[in-house]
Amino acid sequence: MALIVQKFGGTSVGSTDRIKNVAKRVARWKAQGHDIIVVPSAMSGETNRLIGLAKEISASPNPRELDVIASTGEQVTIALLAMAMHEEGLKAKSYTGPQVRVLTDSTHTKARILSIDDQRIRQDLAEGNVVVVAGFQGADEHGNITTLGRGGSDTSAVALAAALKADECQIYTDVDGVYTTDPRIVPEARKLDTITFEEMLEMASLGSKVLQIRSVEFAGKYKVKLRVLSSFQDEGEGTLITVEEDKQMEQPIISGIAFNRDEAKLTVLGVPDRPGIAYQILGPIAEANIDVDMIIQNVGHDGTTDFSFTVNRSDFSKALGVLDTVKAQIGAREIVGDNKNCKVSAVGVGMRSHPGVASQMFRALAEEGINIQMISTSEIKISVVIDEKYLELAVRVLHKTFGLDKEA
Ligand code: ADP
Ligand code: ASP
Ligand code: MG
Repeated sequence: MALIVQKFGGTSVGSTDRIKNVAKRVARWKAQGHDIIVVPSAMSGETNRLIGLAKEISASPNPRELDVIASTGEQVTIALLAMAMHEEGLKAKSYTGPQVRVLTDSTHTKARILSIDDQRIRQDLAEGNVVVVAGFQGADEHGNITTLGRGGSDTSAVALAAALKADECQIYTDVDGVYTTDPRIVPEARKLDTITFEEMLEMASLGSKVLQIRSVEFAGKYKVKLRVLSSFQDEGEGTLITVEEDKQMEQPIISGIAFNRDEAKLTVLGVPDRPGIAYQILGPIAEANIDVDMIIQNVGHDGTTDFSFTVNRSDFSKALGVLDTVKAQIGAREIVGDNKNCKVSAVGVGMRSHPGVASQMFRALAEEGINIQMISTSEIKISVVIDEKYLELAVRVLHKTFGLDKEA
């Protein structure tokens, strides 16, 4: 007998029929003698609808109130799921995040989980209940409702698995595992049986939304056995996120291609080339709560240089506003911005032992006439910023170049 946390994403609970199917699946696991905690998302499209309502009232809704409304989507699915389980003859009880005391910090709309009280859940499990806990939400120390950022139910599930020392955390979604790239873009993408935490962290942080990055961080930190599976298939082992690198002789060099459509680039032209310039530009950007991704400072000439960086597209106009003020202070010539970029990345632990991956990647892009605007590398990834109109082409070409469409 094991303790298993099962998370069901928006499409998996997207209709009452699907909710009934989830209850049937849970009943099968329960019949095998396992203890089950279920963590659903809101029905697909519901969180967007709720945020949309808020935006009809205010262009920039108060974050505390936004959390109050955004968290209600999951409150609907926990109750429906518990009822569907009762119909299957199961004992089941639903709780919102604040009710089971998912304690978070107070950063509304992207709060971090600090602790979870396991008392009530343990007692319910001991009494034979399936415990259904709303994903995506918690409350801060003052009882204010918080949410964990988009896709945050993954993190709720893993955090619950960590708090209760569950044997496994299963993420049920609309694909049957983690693929070499998003199968919606490249139909030839292949499902991976395993992927290392390191690679999954990079893939998630570089845009693969199959798992929220914080759920992967949590799972790595607390050694949670994490698996991604399909909620529409009864068979299949999905993808296991592993700690150990696969000990295969022929380790693939690249495991996956990730992409992010939300990139925007800003360039400060003609900056006086002197110490402290990066700080003078990026200090005010950080103060405005804008996350910076890639940064490039060109080699100076004539005593001036150009300085470029990327931000999330939603922060583009805010960042332009900040730079306008900074421009006068540092005596820069011009600010230019472009919010029609995207980032494409190749990820793989095998890169460590194989030089030449970068040049292979750049050649493949050049052969398609795709201009690279920015590059950044780490030990296990190479990312390029390109024009968004080439996104799908670049992903397909790189997927092929690194042989990801063929059996490993
Ligand atoms: P859920 O609502 O279940 O949380 P998400 O939409 O958040 O589901 O995540 C699943 C989706 O992630 C898939 O439908 C797929 O399009 C996308 N995705 C992106 N990259 C990958 C990848 N490498 N492997 C599998 N799915 C991916
Ligand atoms: N319902 C939330 C969202 O749409 C959380 C989740 O689905 O994981 O972002
Ligand atoms: Mg998701």
